[in-house]
Amino acid sequence: MLETRFLIAPTRLETSELRAVLPRLGAEWKPALLEAERAFLRCAGVEGAPLAAVVRSGGAANRQEHLRTAIGAELFFRDRDVYYLITKPEGRGFWRPPAAGNEGAEPEVEAGLISPTAAGMQERLERFAEALRAAYGEGGERFAWRKDLPTTPRLAAMVATEEGGAGRLTPARLGLVELEYARMLAVPLPRRILRDLLRAGFARERDLLALEQADPEMVRRAVEELQEVGLVEAEFLLECKQDRHPLIRAKSRRQLESAEVAALSCPVCRAPFGSELVVSVFSPTETSRAICGQSQWLRIWLTDRLHQMGVPLNALRWRETGGQEHAEVLAEFLGRLWIFALKDGAWGADDSYALNYRRVRSGADHVVAIATGGIAGEAARLLTEPGEDTPPAAACISGLEAAPAALERELAEAAAEYARRRLRPVEEITSFDLSALPVWRQVNSGGAIRVVRPPLAAGA
Ligand SMILES: [Zn+2]
Repeated sequence: MLETRFLIAPTRLETSELRAVLPRLGAEWKPALLEAERAFLRCAGVEGAPLAAVVRSGGAANRQEHLRTAIGAELFFRDRDVYYLITKPEGRGFWRPPAAGNEGAEPEVEAGLISPTAAGMQERLERFAEALRAAYGEGGERFAWRKDLPTTPRLAAMVATEEGGAGRLTPARLGLVELEYARMLAVPLPRRILRDLLRAGFARERDLLALEQADPEMVRRAVEELQEVGLVEAEFLLECKQDRHPLIRAKSRRQLESAEVAALSCPVCRAPFGSELVVSVFSPTETSRAICGQSQWLRIWLTDRLHQMGVPLNALRWRETGGQEHAEVLAEFLGRLWIFALKDGAWGADDSYALNYRRVRSGADHVVAIATGGIAGEAARLLTEPGEDTPPAAACISGLEAAPAALERELAEAAAEYARRRLRPVEEITSFDLSALPVWRQVNSGGAIRVVRPPLAAGA
């Protein structure tokens, strides 16, 4: 996955100053844009002429010209990394005018790194930022670099107004115990066994073996595991010797063998309870009812996956759905508002209609639907085909087995788009198509990940 990190220095660095600083960075930092302009001047035989006077058309008050007065940029290519530097003497507002007041008007310098290799990225970025500070020389201390902390303004607004579709939003949490439940229930056999137990109330081992149609040893092991984590408990059942009709169930064998129980008589065969059969059965615990209600385990499972892929927990919110099979996770990261809609079961057209409604209402940029029982035909088409009111940005994932790879793909695409969006100002002032660079092709390699190039919304 393509990673983008950057540091911000809240200082005013004019475009002309930037030009003076670049050559002082030293041989290991070759400014690609400056080099390109120099090469142009050499070809034109006017080497040494003032760059801007020759290369850039003055006068015309077009957008590009306007941007060049408001930003300066430079790119450096090292190994498989792209380092960038953008100075915004007029603040972030140059790009999209701030909505109110002078928010975004503070001048700043952004030093960034886009890399396919996350390891050691922060150190590489800091080395670059330090080199820049040193190159500035006297007065370089004004580059007080700080991380631009990720914020989730849209999520925060939804939490504040409880808007964006029905349902309360709660912070995402990952407790160790719940994680263990979620990881276990992500496997089809234990999930099926627990679902059957919840439906039936309890089951004898032989009932489970007949029901699950799986290798008896695997069923036994799955039940054992469910017992170990406390989702299933063993109980005892007194049943009629004659027709195996269940008579009484108890937590312990001793309860069934007590004198007052033994004195009762069977309504079927008239024999005293004391002479009927005691067999062991399995039943779901209270905990399992809680974790399966509203498919809690599913949202924990997804939260865990996203967290492992680098999405911070505070960028996620759980939405109460009220339904037994549905769960929903909202997220704001990589510059997008996402809805992850989950269903423990088969996804139907009704689910798609409801999700399309919620996505329009919450203004989500991207929707990912995951169903343990699959999403097919009309239901999938409703989500992925652009409608009059709905954007086409949706992914359907059938089955949890397919989910990790598909989620990686979704995040990789979003990360590539995000990286490209951060360099958008550079594209605008240079007209170079930066998405053609090797760093993007690297993401595209193997055919597993496709780079999407949707029309980019303006946004710095
Ligand atoms: Zn009986």
